[in-house]
Amino acid sequence: MSLSRRAFAQILGAGAAAAAMPRLVLAARPNGVVRLSANENPYGPSPAAIAAMRDAFSVASRYPDDEVELLAADVAKLHGMSAGEVILGAGSSEILKLVAAAFTSPSRKLVMASPTFEAIARYAGVAGAEVVNIPLDSNFAHDLGRMGAVDGAGVIYICNPNNPTGSITPAGALRPFIESVNPSTMILVDEAYHHYASSPSYESVIPLVKTRPNLIVARTFSKIYGMAGIRAGYAVAQKDVVRKLDAQKVWDSMNVMALVGARASLADTAHVAEGRRRNAATKANLLARLNQLGYKVIPSETNFVMIDLRREVRPLIAAMRERRVQVGRVFPALPKHLRVTIGTPEEMDRFMEAFTGVVNA
Ligand code: PLP
Repeated sequence: MSLSRRAFAQILGAGAAAAAMPRLVLAARPNGVVRLSANENPYGPSPAAIAAMRDAFSVASRYPDDEVELLAADVAKLHGMSAGEVILGAGSSEILKLVAAAFTSPSRKLVMASPTFEAIARYAGVAGAEVVNIPLDSNFAHDLGRMGAVDGAGVIYICNPNNPTGSITPAGALRPFIESVNPSTMILVDEAYHHYASSPSYESVIPLVKTRPNLIVARTFSKIYGMAGIRAGYAVAQKDVVRKLDAQKVWDSMNVMALVGARASLADTAHVAEGRRRNAATKANLLARLNQLGYKVIPSETNFVMIDLRREVRPLIAAMRERRVQVGRVFPALPKHLRVTIGTPEEMDRFMEAFTGVVNA
């Protein structure tokens, strides 16, 4: 029996009235908690993505194969590539896991910066790989010379812009580095925060994939596209590499809502532009206020900033939480810096109120 969209919507409506709905924990957070801890987008998905996801309930009983192909085709078109050069994931976290599983092992190390986004270290650990941490340089850029000099590297992970510092590794250094690394070592460039970067020194390295057989570039729908709770991401790489990643993948790891939401997000370029504009304006305002209080930040090309507290951050994180403002965790390589996500202007007012109270206590 096939079900019309209207009939399905009626069933959903009736079910909602009759059956007990599980409570949404996120929505049930204690009133007034401001969450600036996970570099999420405070404005949420594009309205077009929400509409597409809602519409997709009508096909929730079907496997999502067709939609997988459509999203891969859209991503490929966006980057001037073929669908065989694209792999999709349930968030870019899945991509990081696939890369570690396919290209690290007890004899193939993971080389990464310190500090950087740590998830891939865990995945490489599962593969039995040694993890080599190379400190960022004095400009908070990746120290490419030292990273490239590590013997036996299976994967070199470069997060650009970098989390948690918000800093970039300039294209002028990254491009020749990618061109120089031996093809037996894979380079994974994680561009999760790509859309927020506006420095003329920053560039996506996706165009290099065509000529570099050992380059993988990861992107996510969790940041500018505001879909962190939906789980969608992708990577582009040459076909052989995509095949090796695909061999590690769970079939149909992306659900139909994520797939159609991602497609609608890619199409809504105005929402992306507006997200960038709002983030830049709110960040500039925050930086001016911090500057007035005498606090410096690491120059940020992202939707978060790293504030130099000049004292241990741990007690401050706890004190902020008591004032119902959640900020980033402690990053052991930078124990005197506080990472704060850029929320809405109202959320940043709450942040400043709590921050001023805590640092003056
Ligand atoms: N890469 C970086 C640099 C991140 O900061 C994050 C999340 O914060 C991720 C990847 C994972 O994102 P997701 O799995 O939601 O795409």
